[in-house]
Amino acid sequence: RLILGIESSCDDTAAALVTESGEVLASVIAAQEEVHNAFGGVYPEFASRAHVVSVIPTIEKVMADAGATPADLAAIGVTRGPGLIGSLLVGLNTAAGLGVGWNVPVIGVNHLRGHLRSADLEQARVKYPAIILLVSGGHSILARMTGPGEIAMLGTTRDDSVGEAFDKVGRMLGLPFPAGPAMDRLAAQGQPLFKFPRPMINEGLEFSFSGLKSSVARHMEKHPDARLEDVAASFVAACLDVLEAKCRLALTEHPSTALVVVGGVSASPPLRARMAAMCEGLGVELCLPPLRWSTDNAAMIALAAWDYLRAGLYPPAVPQVRLPITQY
Ligand code: ATP
Ligand code: FE
Repeated sequence: RLILGIESSCDDTAAALVTESGEVLASVIAAQEEVHNAFGGVYPEFASRAHVVSVIPTIEKVMADAGATPADLAAIGVTRGPGLIGSLLVGLNTAAGLGVGWNVPVIGVNHLRGHLRSADLEQARVKYPAIILLVSGGHSILARMTGPGEIAMLGTTRDDSVGEAFDKVGRMLGLPFPAGPAMDRLAAQGQPLFKFPRPMINEGLEFSFSGLKSSVARHMEKHPDARLEDVAASFVAACLDVLEAKCRLALTEHPSTALVVVGGVSASPPLRARMAAMCEGLGVELCLPPLRWSTDNAAMIALAAWDYLRAGLYPPAVPQVRLPITQY
């Protein structure tokens, strides 16, 4: 039995077929980077239009790749939020139509719960209790999990997310959108010479990244000759210092077996290395999704839908633009 996952919350149209144990039989992601690159960020109306064009072919391809038929489906899991309203609606309406046509239940899935479950794709990795660091394009969240469905919030960002800071600073440095991977490559060639602020580093479990972004902007105005590699390295170093300090504090205040780092920014090699070194020192197990499941995909949505199905939960497949991580 399989769950068909459908994800269309932002700028990628994705579909995947996943077994209950997290095996991914097929996954297709139709990215829209070329559509949004010219704007230096996601242009919501163009994102919706691109989803309309690619959603059916993406689902057809994933079914064909796995040689699956509708009779193989236990359910369809589709992202209901958080995300862009026009983008969400395309996936949700498609799922609703297929559910009726194929006579399969449709489960509305929280995108952030999808990211959480990404660390268990292909093989079970997460040990509980665990501290979660979710760092993505729209969110920076620290939470504690005592089981796949039991989540308590510890802290979130007061302004920008880490991924947003990467993308906005990346735009200042002339990098393409999304800037994460290019920022990592640029930073690797520079030295962290500039002492940018580490916002709220010793102040509890909440984050703030907009001040860091502004201070990079001011620095570039004052020092137009600064090597971009060094600016990137200094910015990444500031982000990593903050993320490490917050995870350390969370693990001290809430002793846990594991640290789970998920979301698009968890694809960052320097972040992975920093977290690995910290966890080794603390004797905590580090659980990371394989690189290809760090950024948005539908396999994580399907795996989260399996949790819902097992628990007998059928959250409606209706859009909810803001959906807290603690909510199904
Ligand atoms: P959310 O999940 O919060 O709704 P989203 O779905 O748009 O937002 P993700 O796909 O999870 O976000 O993550 C995208 C973010 O990850 C972007 O900000 C991107 O720059 C960042 N990112 C991707 N790869 C890397 C990398 N190698 N290093 C750093 N950041 C990265
Ligand atoms: Fe995401």
